[in-house]
Amino acid sequence: MYVDAHCHLEDKGFNKNRDEVVNRARDICVITSGATLGGIKRALSLKKKYNIYLTLGYHPSKVKSDDKIVNNVYNLIKDNYKNILAIGEIGMDIKRDNPERQEEIFKKFLYLAKELDKPIVVHARGYEEKIFNLVDIPTMFHCYSGSLDLAKKITKEGYYISISTLLLFSEHHKMIVDKIDIDYILTETDSPYLSPFKGEKNEPKNVKLVVKEISKIKEMELDEVKRIIYNNSVNFFREKLTPIFTK
Ligand SMILES: [Zn+2]
Repeated sequence: MYVDAHCHLEDKGFNKNRDEVVNRARDICVITSGATLGGIKRALSLKKKYNIYLTLGYHPSKVKSDDKIVNNVYNLIKDNYKNILAIGEIGMDIKRDNPERQEEIFKKFLYLAKELDKPIVVHARGYEEKIFNLVDIPTMFHCYSGSLDLAKKITKEGYYISISTLLLFSEHHKMIVDKIDIDYILTETDSPYLSPFKGEKNEPKNVKLVVKEISKIKEMELDEVKRIIYNNSVNFFREKLTPIFTK
């Protein structure tokens, strides 16, 4: 069994062919992340239709929203805590404005995760070090693209590095996979983003390519890598995962 630990199956871009995308992912445990007010509502309704898992959070790109929206998201997550594996994605992004406000919102959801006793999935583009210094609960660094040095500190702390489909065309990511302990690696696609194929939307099935590439880099059997990453996912998300299907 493969695990796509972070994607956006609730993205409107899948409205026209979501059933096909699900059919192509039949041996994959899919964890979808609703990270806007609309995205969270869509993710919650998908959970009724498919055997999928949820993380819910607030994306740092939404830094311009006022407190009312942030609080709506906060309350929606709180009300649905039994339906989610983790809070996320939450975090900070160097390409977005107003880092002070981003940090304030991030901390609000970090405290919520502590209150609900949930792990967190962080988006930390350009702020990997800062986020690492702010967190003190189990954390998955979604689509990690920071330095090797920090990656080693993250795994030493017992946190997880999630490797996305970027691995397929990035020497930096290959180097990181080569040098860090496989016991702290998770895999994801961030679908519909980060497609390994030009002109195509990314989708959960492509997580297989990530696992295959890791087995190549680590010079380990594919089945062994699959087993380890599945176990890492179960450890982090604290739940036995099963592949996606239409209910
Ligand atoms: Zn994402």
